[in-house]
Amino acid sequence: MTVILAIHAHPDDIETLGAGALALLSAAGHMVTLATLTAGEGGSTETSPEDTARIRKAEAAAAAALIGASYRCGGLPDLGVFSDDASRRTVTEMIRQARPDIVITSSPADYHPDHEATSLLVRDACFAASVPNYRTGEARALDSIPHLYFMDPIGGRDREGVPVRPDFGADIASVFETKRAMLAAHESQIRWVARQHGVPDQVASLEKWARRRGRDFGVEMAEGFRQYRHHPWPGSPLLQELLGPALLTPLAAS
Ligand SMILES: [Zn+2]
Repeated sequence: MTVILAIHAHPDDIETLGAGALALLSAAGHMVTLATLTAGEGGSTETSPEDTARIRKAEAAAAAALIGASYRCGGLPDLGVFSDDASRRTVTEMIRQARPDIVITSSPADYHPDHEATSLLVRDACFAASVPNYRTGEARALDSIPHLYFMDPIGGRDREGVPVRPDFGADIASVFETKRAMLAAHESQIRWVARQHGVPDQVASLEKWARRRGRDFGVEMAEGFRQYRHHPWPGSPLLQELLGPALLTPLAAS
């Protein structure tokens, strides 16, 4: 059994960008944990930050439970994720507690500052987690740096609109209904996303993106991923191997 930890910034990000692959991995018997660095307490005009955080953490836990996964929240402030000393120690402790073989996080380039800061924090915390003299809490240091992967950015583009091309994909058609149900568990976000982001139907938008990414791989629906291979992060294709028959190779860029 492989231990997989997915970390993004806000509740509902993982559902949008990686839940299909995680559903496949969980169904294959691997241990999957979903984590967000914030509770997304900014995502409401109707409830206080405290109430919003409580509601959204419960929604995230319910979504994770749909694939037999657990949920953790890092407790950093919404719109307040920065790569600083205290935050890196917090994220490192989360990684040490989960003891993952694979970490999947947000894209280094994305539309939201918390997404980009999360990517940076998680990348560096994966390294720090294996350094025994880097003190973070009760959990002991990892024996080795976990394999690190990035999800797609929202909409598959960086801030300049340049497409971010995945290294490989997961064929998620067989688990799309599960992915859709996981996003729908975030009930409090439906009105917020319509108002703040101008997306009247978040679930329809999810399906549209899955089909769009699917076209890049010549299948009906897909999620895209990239592996971080810089020394000394492990470069062997562990996640790709675990995806088995669902692993997709991109079609030549057109
Ligand atoms: Zn987000």
